[in-house]
Amino acid sequence: MDIDTDELRSSLTPREENSAIKSYQNTVSVVCPACGEPFEDLVVCKENPTSLNLSKQLDLCVGVDEGKAYIFTHQ
Ligand SMILES: [Zn+2]
Repeated sequence: MDIDTDELRSSLTPREENSAIKSYQNTVSVVCPACGEPFEDLVVCKENPTSLNLSKQLDLCVGVDEGKAYIFTHQ
């Protein structure tokens, strides 16, 4: 999968960052590069491996760019 991460970062609103992950909220309905539907949030994993503690059940799409995992969440 080819992800234009520069474009994603410039379009999305940064929300949370810690040593393991950085998350962005998709406030402008950017479409997911995996499934073509607008996604809710993007989580970028900065460490490998990384655990995600999801508080709700979500549909996820995943891509990798430059060794980082990009997780797109859908409600
Ligand atoms: Zn998707």
